Amino acid sequence: MKITIFDGHGTIGGNKIYIEENNEGIFLDFGMNFSSYGKYYEEFITERPSRGIYDLWRLGLIPKLNIYRDDLIPDDLSSEILKSDKIPVKMVLISHAHLDHAGNVSLLRNDIPILGSPETLVILKSIRDTSSAHLGNEIPYSKERIKDGFLLKASKNIIKRKMFVTDSLNDESINFLSSVNLTSKENENMAEIDDFKNHNLHFEFKPFIVDHSIPGATSFLIKADFEIAYTGDLRFHGKRKDGSMDFFKNAKNARILITEGTRIGRADDTNVSEEIVYENSFSIINESNDLVISDFSPRNFERLETFKKIAEKTGRSLVITTKDAYYLDALDALNKTEMMKNLKIYSEYSLKENKWQSIIYDKYGGEYIYPNDIKNDPSNYILCFSFYDMPKLLDIMPNGGDYIYSSSEAFGEEDIFSFERLLEWIKFFNFKVHGIKIENNEIRFEKGLHASGHASKDDLIHAIDIMDPDLIIPVHTENPDWFLQNFENVKIIKNGKDLTF
Ligand SMILES: [Zn+2]
Repeated sequence: MKITIFDGHGTIGGNKIYIEENNEGIFLDFGMNFSSYGKYYEEFITERPSRGIYDLWRLGLIPKLNIYRDDLIPDDLSSEILKSDKIPVKMVLISHAHLDHAGNVSLLRNDIPILGSPETLVILKSIRDTSSAHLGNEIPYSKERIKDGFLLKASKNIIKRKMFVTDSLNDESINFLSSVNLTSKENENMAEIDDFKNHNLHFEFKPFIVDHSIPGATSFLIKADFEIAYTGDLRFHGKRKDGSMDFFKNAKNARILITEGTRIGRADDTNVSEEIVYENSFSIINESNDLVISDFSPRNFERLETFKKIAEKTGRSLVITTKDAYYLDALDALNKTEMMKNLKIYSEYSLKENKWQSIIYDKYGGEYIYPNDIKNDPSNYILCFSFYDMPKLLDIMPNGGDYIYSSSEAFGEEDIFSFERLLEWIKFFNFKVHGIKIENNEIRFEKGLHASGHASKDDLIHAIDIMDPDLIIPVHTENPDWFLQNFENVKIIKNGKDLTF
């Protein structure tokens, strides 16, 4: 068996871990490395869509391997790609739907299937449906590019990617995953969905749903000549903490542990629980007589529940974006939950009405809140907006209110953006800001308004002690040396390097 770390060493995110045995290979995640992307790119400088993977290849932002979609390879790159390593890739196991773990999957050859939990697949499908064709989100299906020499043009042809799912799905969710919710003009092509046990690989997988800041996060046991345990991202202080512990207990026979270490480098690493986030946010909102903006990752549904509870207690309405409603509606259908209950949807001024928007409007038409409603009675609402929604506030023109930053503690899991710009918007609307501030020209996060999605040092040490692996390979951490200092059997594998057993 050979383990290669193509990306994800010494950094948070971008995991691309390759396992090969018997001439068969699988990837554990194939994420976007936001920190290396961020060296060159920001909101308005990105890879040029008409050049396919050319820019990412030249900048070294993706591994130089012959594994990518042919329709993304322009003529001036094809001979170089043909000369590069053509490793066998039979499947990508996706630990969860954060783009630093899944965001580069769309670049891979279309005959490479993905495997994930029902929630992971539903969220990735929602991301795809609600955003325009982009190399980072075309995971369940993509628009075929037509090659014209050095240039690539998106066509209306939809290419599907086969999905293996780790648990059973009801008909509604099968339907959701296999439909292409773009405009009706696009050629529809039903995606193939199959039970994960039906793969015909040399490897065997055992998935465990674990605790992280997004539903459906999965750790895997991979069985081949011997067993490997891969954490993906996890923590031990949220609602699903028992799932995380269960994974480590079941991993006792595994020889190798490939583990995240996101919080390892931080000086103050005490856990903030979701209850503390609730209490701190509640007291801010309870004292406010004006509009409240709560800024958190729309995929963090535990946080959504927290603010829903606060809204109920303080007599306000919680208003989400149509995009968030689309995710929640799909997850409600999957798990037979009622997350959409009592939520209001923000009606933004927009010329476009896409299929996904009309699906939500047809179902929840009576729940829409208009900019004027909020303008006339700001203290009645908590608006779930983030940086990207700031321009919409110009239709409300709030003057004062509270802005609660309750989001990921580091850039990297979802996107790259400028906190300086966010703070300018906050200043423009005269909001009082909570959770983030600038001190000596540096951005500081105030503790207590966000519960981390990742394990603390103590929790991780405890779990690893229980599992007692022969070898630990740290990834998804800026401080891999911490593992060397705290455990005996640690092997650090740098990007592009491998280890053979
Ligand atoms: Zn994550």
